[in-house]
Amino acid sequence: MSTRRTALVTGGGSGIGRAISLRLAENGFATAVLDLNGDAAEQVAEQARGKGYEAVALGGVDVSDRDQVNDAVTRVRKTLGPALVLVNNAGITGYKRFLNISDELWDRMLAINLSGPFYLCQAVVPDMIEAGWGRIVNISSSSAQGGQQYMTHYVASKAGLVGLTKALALEFGPAGITVNTIPPGFVDTPMLRMSEERGLLGGSVDQHAERTPVRRPGRPEDIAAACAFLVSDDAGYITGQVIGVNGGRNT
Ligand code: NAP
Repeated sequence: MSTRRTALVTGGGSGIGRAISLRLAENGFATAVLDLNGDAAEQVAEQARGKGYEAVALGGVDVSDRDQVNDAVTRVRKTLGPALVLVNNAGITGYKRFLNISDELWDRMLAINLSGPFYLCQAVVPDMIEAGWGRIVNISSSSAQGGQQYMTHYVASKAGLVGLTKALALEFGPAGITVNTIPPGFVDTPMLRMSEERGLLGGSVDQHAERTPVRRPGRPEDIAAACAFLVSDDAGYITGQVIGVNGGRNT
């Protein structure tokens, strides 16, 4: 990479987002680690800085709040320069029988998992257009490919993110901006372990690993590696794509 570029990673304090933040910082991006959890965001940014990379934390930012998002993007522009790479990774999960999903649960799921990326894209795309270059990676879910029982609200939000990805790719390809989605499947993160602890996985992580073609759970670094490629100059001809990273669980 010839020029220094800035990357903004949402949900960067934990799991997949943490690995993506550290990987992008390692690859030379000035990295903004945005997370609702301020301590976690600060720890990740500190870890990156400890290795000599450029990183700042944006803690306590809720992606479902447009004003907070706009304020965070402005802070990134002032401290690191305009974010020409955006990774929409922050998300929540949820398990509920369909008939028990309340309006509040439905609205909250869509607000964080779908409206959040919408606000972030609207906040960063003007800078990308001005630069004539941009990369957006949306972290969706393999459940949007195969469906998942008792997760209708989650699956709908992630399927919406796939649609957002495809439509944006068509509109902004001419501006030099690529937009892709990685739907992870079965990645060993706090989110997955929480689901295991609550008995919501339909078996243990180890049992699922036995049924996974590559015979292991995914690692956050697996997603980070794919993301690092998609935001590189080498990936300029890849846009509007769904790049599954799931050990072969969905093909
Ligand atoms: P994780 O460990 O729970 O990390 C998610 C991070 O996002 C947390 O730090 C969380 O903060 C933050 N966050 C939650 N709501 C937020 C909000 N409103 N604004 C800003 N930050 C917020 O989850 P993960 O497993 O790494 O998942 C990352 C992404 O991958 C999610 O979008 C998830 O749906 C997707 N995914 C994961 C898997 C998997 O197997 N792990 C599979 C498919 C898709 P708090 O801790 O404070 O809530």
